[in-house]
Amino acid sequence: MTSARTRDRLVQRLKDHGIRSEAVLSQIRNVPRHLFVDEALASRAYEDTALPIGLGQTISQPWVVARMTEALLEDFDGESVLEIGTGCGYQTAVMAPLVKKIYTVERIPELMKKTRRRLRDLDIYNVQLRPGDGWEGWPKYAPYDGIIVTAAAPRLPEKLLEQLAPGGRMVIPVGPPGFQDLLLVLRKDDHFEEVSLGAVSFVPLVQG
Ligand code: SAH
Repeated sequence: MTSARTRDRLVQRLKDHGIRSEAVLSQIRNVPRHLFVDEALASRAYEDTALPIGLGQTISQPWVVARMTEALLEDFDGESVLEIGTGCGYQTAVMAPLVKKIYTVERIPELMKKTRRRLRDLDIYNVQLRPGDGWEGWPKYAPYDGIIVTAAAPRLPEKLLEQLAPGGRMVIPVGPPGFQDLLLVLRKDDHFEEVSLGAVSFVPLVQG
């Protein structure tokens, strides 16, 4: 169920659906997604679907994780990435070897605690986790060269725009349930540019 062949099949599917980055595809092959879900769901871990992880939250669909990582890191020459919505940490683990430092914020402390342990068990050490409200970002280490938000916001959070470095990139799903658009936001010297990457479906970015 978690064999090399099963993982290769997932990688092939993502390639067939337009994922091009070899670095990202190799991370999808390497990261043991079955360790991020309950044992009862482990046999489905390499299907290209979102799965429940408890507390009303989900682990993102592999294609979405791959697409967001690819969009964030294309032409990326920065060092720091802020992630909002750590959840089980799968997206974090996929990104970790591809960037220097990840700061990640999760509003459910129980989830965060488990994820901290899981990342340590996987020998991932360049991630700093914090419980909190992602709408506020994480001012302490700002500005960030990249920001990735893995829950859907009704609009672009102002604090996150402020915490994005000039030349930086943010990937974020925006819109109400059923009408979410994945946006790539580029911070230029004196303005922001938005590129739509297509329709997606995420749990909401809860306020407060
Ligand atoms: N990144 C995860 C998917 C996360 S699902 C993966 O790789 O699978 C979205 C996560 O965002 C949930 O864990 C939810 O608790 C969290 N979240 C929702 N609103 C938030 C907020 N305002 N601040 C921080 N985290 C939030």
